[in-house]
Amino acid sequence: MATAEVGDEQQRTDPTVNRLCDRVAEMLGHEAGLFLPTGTMCNLVAVAAHTSPGDAVVASADSHIVRSETGGAAAYSGVITDLLQSDGGRFGPEATAEALAPGNAYRPWPRLLCLEQTHNFGGGTVWPLPQYRAVAAAAHEKSVPVHTDGARLFNATVASGTEAADWGRPVDSIWIDFTKGLGAPIGAVLAGPSDFIEAARVHKHRCGGAMRQAGIAAAGCLHALDHHIDRLADDHANAARLAAGISALGLGAEDVETNMVWIDVTATGLRAAEFLERLAAHDVRMSRVEERVRAVTHLDISAGDIETAIDAVGAVLAAGRSEPGG
Ligand SMILES: *Cc1c(COP(=O)(O)O)cnc(C)c1O
Repeated sequence: MATAEVGDEQQRTDPTVNRLCDRVAEMLGHEAGLFLPTGTMCNLVAVAAHTSPGDAVVASADSHIVRSETGGAAAYSGVITDLLQSDGGRFGPEATAEALAPGNAYRPWPRLLCLEQTHNFGGGTVWPLPQYRAVAAAAHEKSVPVHTDGARLFNATVASGTEAADWGRPVDSIWIDFTKGLGAPIGAVLAGPSDFIEAARVHKHRCGGAMRQAGIAAAGCLHALDHHIDRLADDHANAARLAAGISALGLGAEDVETNMVWIDVTATGLRAAEFLERLAAHDVRMSRVEERVRAVTHLDISAGDIETAIDAVGAVLAAGRSEPGG
């Protein structure tokens, strides 16, 4: 990163950024790519480029774009989100067709379908490719474009033995994040047809995402593409081991498909926040979404760390049991 060749990204003359965008676009089976500082900004500019104010954007009720972006799509693009119930973030072509029924003078027009791969709040779940293709085809049948939030797309390709382009080609826009399992400090790339990327570039500039010597960041992303994709399999193995260890201690751990373990801590008698506090006293950090605890494995976590984490959970449980009435 320190020795990256740089230019002015805003003027499209940063060679390292251009190299990254070309490479990601090709990997995803699209014409062009756009470098953005964050994944959240990828969703923000993509929704803006696909829609007009008053349109409906259809997404699963527990998607990141709905739950975790402080209403950015509504605030910036003036769209309303129409929420689909899902099974771990996944739904079928029939539900898609139903949700994308044409608007009229009363009902807002659905103008974009958003998918997420892997699905974060669904549990790090992977869409099966035939289901993903069928859903994209159902949307296209209704002339509605499809946008994929691929923050953790490579966790899906590694877990399912597929190629990134398998997920890029069926949809109209897709992005990948470099700051999740890929381990870079900054950056995400949005890919799509050239005219779409030009429209997205206007929004990127408008919301302050155009940068200068961004090649230093893009160099970290290129390093991640070269060195950090195949090793995601280690994160998946670590997550599976963590789930097995925690289940053996008597806590519910949902089926693990990739690098996330969602844990039900009700058997401890503790609220999730309290459980995490006690775990932190053993130098193990997890996070929570309401009463569900989430552990995510990544390139800073070794197989040895997983054993440490299991031991720490065991210690929290043992201490809870030894308390009066605990
Ligand atoms: C993390 C995440 C984002 C946002 O990415 P940032 O780079 O943190 O802005 C969007 N979607 C999903 C599914 C994510 O996990």
